[in-house]
Amino acid sequence: MDWNKLADVLVPDENVKPLEYYEELYPPRNLPQGAQVTRLAPSPTGFIHLGNLFVAIANERIAHQSGGLMYLRIEDTDLKRKVDGAVDAVKNALRYFDIRFDEGAEIEGAENAYAPYYQRERAELYHAYAKDLIRRGLAYPCFCTEESLTALREKQTEEKKITGYYGEYAACRNLTEEEIYANLAAKKPYVIRLRSQGNAENKITFRDEIKGDITVTENDQDVVILKSDGIPTYHFAHAIDDHFMRTTLVIRGEEWLASLPIHIELFNVLGFNRPKYGHNCSLQKIDGETRRKLSKRKDPELSLEFYRQEGYYSRAVKVYMLTLLNSNFEEWYMKNPEKSLDEFKFTIGKMGKSGTLFDLDKLNDISKNELAKLSVEEMYHFLSDWANEFGNDQQKGYFADKEYMYKVLTLCMGIGGKKRRKDFTTAKQAVEFISYFFDSTFAPEYAYRFENETVKKILCDFKGKYDYADDCSAWFDKVKEVAANAGFATDMKAYKADPTAYPGNVSDVAEMLRIATTGLANTPDLWTIMQILGEERTLARLEKAIAVL
Ligand code: GLU
Repeated sequence: MDWNKLADVLVPDENVKPLEYYEELYPPRNLPQGAQVTRLAPSPTGFIHLGNLFVAIANERIAHQSGGLMYLRIEDTDLKRKVDGAVDAVKNALRYFDIRFDEGAEIEGAENAYAPYYQRERAELYHAYAKDLIRRGLAYPCFCTEESLTALREKQTEEKKITGYYGEYAACRNLTEEEIYANLAAKKPYVIRLRSQGNAENKITFRDEIKGDITVTENDQDVVILKSDGIPTYHFAHAIDDHFMRTTLVIRGEEWLASLPIHIELFNVLGFNRPKYGHNCSLQKIDGETRRKLSKRKDPELSLEFYRQEGYYSRAVKVYMLTLLNSNFEEWYMKNPEKSLDEFKFTIGKMGKSGTLFDLDKLNDISKNELAKLSVEEMYHFLSDWANEFGNDQQKGYFADKEYMYKVLTLCMGIGGKKRRKDFTTAKQAVEFISYFFDSTFAPEYAYRFENETVKKILCDFKGKYDYADDCSAWFDKVKEVAANAGFATDMKAYKADPTAYPGNVSDVAEMLRIATTGLANTPDLWTIMQILGEERTLARLEKAIAVL
């Protein structure tokens, strides 16, 4: 068989150059010893998820800690899944978590010497190497139809054989020259398959940087390397791109572990050194009685967009991710809460070897703690940024009067108090939490625990006595007076000794006032709230509450 001729017929690409050309065009990187080159290689589907963020953080930390770099490659070989704007979506989503690429697709200002970073623009390279494999008898055309491949799979399943295109089942593996040209003349579509040299009886021990030593079976599948449109499969593009972009470490999801034998064989037949690999375990959650993988369909928290829309504080998410990613992070962070997260020494060996449990409640706790560290000014910007992007018009309006908002935040964050309050979890929740301070969204339901008559009497009495100039203790004396006038206990000791002797106590009265002015039974200090609302608004709210009783 004239393999040279066949290579030209099967992969007609006039741009293809001798292989040395590509080695020179993309030379080994000039980096210090030990510097790692890592990458994120998402498909442009528009859906960026926590799994992406996980590997992005690990890749970014390892690259930059070692004096290396991380690049962004777009794996756009599957046009059906491509979404416009997806590359920006990746970059924006990751920028929110402070992950920046040193080079790659749409990375401005970078030298980008290993471009192009879109796989669709790298066809020449894939074609050059596919041709080379055909010339060396290591790849061949396959004319099998979808139907015949489905029939093969069914037969293999029925016979309890390993499914796939290999050995005796690889119908096109040994076509004669005449048969190949006859098929081509008949214009039958074809793919290019690897002629695997492996044997599934052989085991390979492999060192995974995350999982440790693992044993895999040698590949014997004649996998597709070029699809019928000349576009490579993930496997083939992975080997070629990670070689020519000079990646030293591939951290990727563990769903790729099953195809690792294919990648090992491809690197071997292509004559490339393999990068190191780390397969990151899947993210799981507790769902009722079971523990399962996070799912795109069922779990909104899988999407990174969720965290921006909800207004999670990015440092909090990153702290939680690092807690899950490196077992010694939590202890380090306890000792160094103020330090930049980049000062933590990230180690790939400390990444989880099996499923990681993702717990939104834990993230919420971390978020509360992180937000409790912000200054009023930082909180103002954090919340207004969120409101401007995701809030409704009223919420955007909250930030017009900065002085007023500063007072609200100072109180709600507990600044100046004994301890900082931890009422804020996310920007969205915080903005909703403070909504009662703004007339545009003040829509109370007034859920009192006492008869309307009683409440009305108390509110009217208080309204008559209220003086904006009262300090906190004068104000409280008036609340007590009002309580006493209504027969409520003002001495808590006496009340506790015999609660049935009173309709309630002074804190019940305070609760009525609170509900009347804020709509809520629980808020920060009520005197301060009234001070912030101002005399006019406080009285208006009391009137409004009385009017509906
Ligand atoms: N495009 C692949 C994915 O999104 C990349 C896997 C890899 O990192 O090699 O899953």
